[in-house]
Amino acid sequence: MYCRICKKENNVKSIRSIKSPFIDLTYKLYECSLCRSKFFNSDEYDINLHSIYNDYYKNQNPATSFIKDKYWENQVKIIKKILGHKPQSVLDAGCKTGDFLMHFPDNIIREGVELSDSNYYSVPKVVDNN
Ligand SMILES: [Zn+2]
Repeated sequence: MYCRICKKENNVKSIRSIKSPFIDLTYKLYECSLCRSKFFNSDEYDINLHSIYNDYYKNQNPATSFIKDKYWENQVKIIKKILGHKPQSVLDAGCKTGDFLMHFPDNIIREGVELSDSNYYSVPKVVDNN
């Protein structure tokens, strides 16, 4: 198996099984020993991630505005500490409405990807004061 991030082969191993919070599925979590990324292999299961996320999030209350959150503020501090410097850009894979990205300063590049259409339509409007 190859790593989904660094694309190298032969450095990926299964580290544990995780029960999905979305559907009745227990899947293997893999880790790459080179880049330390963790992921699951959707090819191992007969699932459609797009429809799973859509079904899950369409029943959630849509966000109406951006609110600073202590949990996400702490995650940003942890990331800066791990990196040892301030990031110049950040990519949030599975960003939901982008709330986590909004906790990074607006002078860095912030990008997010999201499979769920229902999250896309519930992204709160952000007022830019500049
Ligand atoms: Zn890797």
